[in-house]
Amino acid sequence: MDGAINESIAAVPVQWASKAVQIPAIQERGQREVFCGLTGIVWLHRRMQDAFFLVIGSRTCAHLLQSAAGVMIFAEPRFGTAILDDRDLSGHADFNDSLDEVVQQLHLRRPEIKTLFLVGSCPSEVIKLDLATAATRLSHSYHGQLRVLSYSGSGIETTFTQGEDQCLKALVESIPSQPTATKTATQLLVLGTLADLVEDQFTRLFEQLGVNDVVFLPAKRASELPVIDQHTRVVLAQPFVGDTLRQLVRMGATPIDAGFPFGVEGTRQWFHAIANTFDVSSETFDSVMEAPTARARIALQKVVPQLSGKSVTFLPDSQLEIPLARFLHRECGMDIIEIGVPFLDRQLVQSELDQLPDSIRLTEGQHVDRQLDRLRNDKPDLTVCGMGLGNPLEAEGFATKWSIELVFSPIHGFEQAADLAALFAKPLKRRNLLSVPV
Ligand code: SF4
Repeated sequence: MDGAINESIAAVPVQWASKAVQIPAIQERGQREVFCGLTGIVWLHRRMQDAFFLVIGSRTCAHLLQSAAGVMIFAEPRFGTAILDDRDLSGHADFNDSLDEVVQQLHLRRPEIKTLFLVGSCPSEVIKLDLATAATRLSHSYHGQLRVLSYSGSGIETTFTQGEDQCLKALVESIPSQPTATKTATQLLVLGTLADLVEDQFTRLFEQLGVNDVVFLPAKRASELPVIDQHTRVVLAQPFVGDTLRQLVRMGATPIDAGFPFGVEGTRQWFHAIANTFDVSSETFDSVMEAPTARARIALQKVVPQLSGKSVTFLPDSQLEIPLARFLHRECGMDIIEIGVPFLDRQLVQSELDQLPDSIRLTEGQHVDRQLDRLRNDKPDLTVCGMGLGNPLEAEGFATKWSIELVFSPIHGFEQAADLAALFAKPLKRRNLLSVPV
């Protein structure tokens, strides 16, 4: 799975400092238990309120999306599936004619939609439908009314958070490149979906720090795209948007090595790296951070006793595993046994890895049978895993946390640090209540 991904990573290196000795990663190849990139539509369609996601896929894709998003049809959700039938799959129907008809119906019915994403799936990739060309053609047809972009959410060799990366990369690629700098002042771009309430909290803190020119990608409206040039500084809010980051770097932006804003210390470090980039004085930084840091520490300390001294293993699923392990280890006192990641984008997570003990077992990719053997041997108090493995592991006596919940929940920032810890404490508490002393 890492071939194509790592090729694009290597193409545009993001140079950040790291400690000399790196924790080695054990490569695993075999059967994987992960959702596909279509899952990202669930949170992306809520975030971008003028966008529609049209999956070109099978009934399986439609079922996945409908059950994961849990939105009633009569609520007119901003996603749907154009189902490929036997005639499409056998090449007897002209895909472009069918697609044009669906897009026309959508445009007439939902004129408020300004950006349409054509989302590829396993079936559309297998029969090699050219969605990129179709998107360009449709964008010309609806010029000024509807912008049509495409990306792949296929489950072939991807994990579910890569859907967001591919979607944001498509958005960024649609921004006209600027041959020379067009902004006069430095602008901060926060990359990766944040919950609205987290964006509001971060915006207030940026204002207090004097960092006033801030844009979030994705924004609440997909049609509002920032100018990218040499005055753009990018900070990551999510660790799974590496392809988008590299596209921004190609367009002239400079990345900020800040780690990720999970937990009290993680959030403080994140703001600190931004403050340094924007020449905020240490007095201003300390005074702005003082109250939220103190409040968050007090709230977090109420949950830490439930986690401290407990062991945890992460199975590869969301790409959030490394920064969350850092939070659980450094701020909640948990012992990390194994961190599995679907793929290791070292450049993005090295500063987080540097804060973890060298003794942790770091694995990249998945061979699920071997991984489960190790898990049964290690017997961690808590296992963070995908939904497919959660229930079988619970039946075997493991306390589990579904990693997908961590993508759907607001977990960034000071005010959410205690809630984030509580998400991990809950399964431990539940298992305690269920266990019968002998
Ligand atoms: S994109 Fe592939 S993995 Fe995802 S639901 Fe459709 S067929 Fe299944």
